Amino acid sequence: MSIYMIRAKKIITVSHIGTIEDGAMVIQNEKIIEVGTWENIRKQYSSIQVIDYTNDVVTPSLVDCHTHLLEFAPTSLYPVTSDTHFLAGKAILLHALSTGITALGEQICGHPLGDFSIEDYRKAVHGIPLNVSFATTSISIGFEKIAHFTSITQSKAVHKKDLVDPFLVRQIAKESEYPGENIFINATPANFTKNEVPKAGELIYTIEEMQQIVDIYHGFGKKIGAHVAGIVGIEMALEVGVDVLHHAHSITDELIARASDQGVQIVATPMGGTHLTPNSPEEILKFIKAGIPVSISTDAYLPPYPEVPWLPYEDKLLKGPDQLMLIANPSMQVLKENNFDENAILALLTNNPATILGKHHQFGRLEKGLDANFIVAEGIPGLEITDIERIKKVYYQGKLVISRPFS
Ligand SMILES: [Zn+2]
Repeated sequence: MSIYMIRAKKIITVSHIGTIEDGAMVIQNEKIIEVGTWENIRKQYSSIQVIDYTNDVVTPSLVDCHTHLLEFAPTSLYPVTSDTHFLAGKAILLHALSTGITALGEQICGHPLGDFSIEDYRKAVHGIPLNVSFATTSISIGFEKIAHFTSITQSKAVHKKDLVDPFLVRQIAKESEYPGENIFINATPANFTKNEVPKAGELIYTIEEMQQIVDIYHGFGKKIGAHVAGIVGIEMALEVGVDVLHHAHSITDELIARASDQGVQIVATPMGGTHLTPNSPEEILKFIKAGIPVSISTDAYLPPYPEVPWLPYEDKLLKGPDQLMLIANPSMQVLKENNFDENAILALLTNNPATILGKHHQFGRLEKGLDANFIVAEGIPGLEITDIERIKKVYYQGKLVISRPFS
């Protein structure tokens, strides 16, 4: 089937065309070659096969641009060894795919339980129907004695001075494919409980050290992203020219205005990820009103931040990318109440994270020439539906890769 057409109740394109009622889309050789109304498209392509989705909504598939699925998650979720680590990784990726996600932004930070190189991670995703971009990073974990790792030094802990060693920073920067959390401005609580990580939140770098790191990335013509939370850390990040703020928990109105002026993008993580209260729906609304391109991401696998009113969780179990729609829903609802168009709202899970990954010319919208990565669902993902069982089909580069025939 090298060419076919789908017909849907409506198509949310997330492009300038917006929503198309009774829409049709033509797919040929992995790409979208036409999108429009059924009435117009069927005339042009009268003889090709039509797949009928007239009871359902078709949207771009989802993009989770900040995850830790291949490095931290396998040993957290499965009793694996180094020989079975990537088998668990593949199971985790398949699960993500089944939730409508076809692109991921993975962080490779260095981890005591995984002595793998960035090449090993790249090899592990080869042949999987998912587009994975890797951000190589260093990480500082807020134990009583803060532990530092890097993607280049792998499972071996390093010293703080190594994190600012230009030779090592250059190696990390060279391997990074997009601005993920390349540096941790504050020590992270990671997946640990509060008493295990008393130093979570502590600032790791001086402003001079940060400037030197940012200049190395920019010298390679690359953007840099940072894990950051709290006023002082965010101020420093903006001062030295960090391009993407991950989390930005506890940001102020003044710093939001400054981020907007500097053209900084934000990856919001409403489930957690730092020592401070995660991004609220009201905060995400402020970002968007300030004109900042916002992506919502899971930072999975992660235990949810305790006692946050917009999160439904009553346990501390690790949550995965299957929670993306659920954690985005309160913010998407607030945007709808503020009269934002459904295409602009869905962009938070599609086009905006695709832009963070630098792949918005390849996917994130349903538009002529882009990859045919789309989902067939009972409603708009994240806005109208949050249950993964209501994602009926997932297509990746024109191929049906997930199907829930009886739902
Ligand atoms: Zn993270």
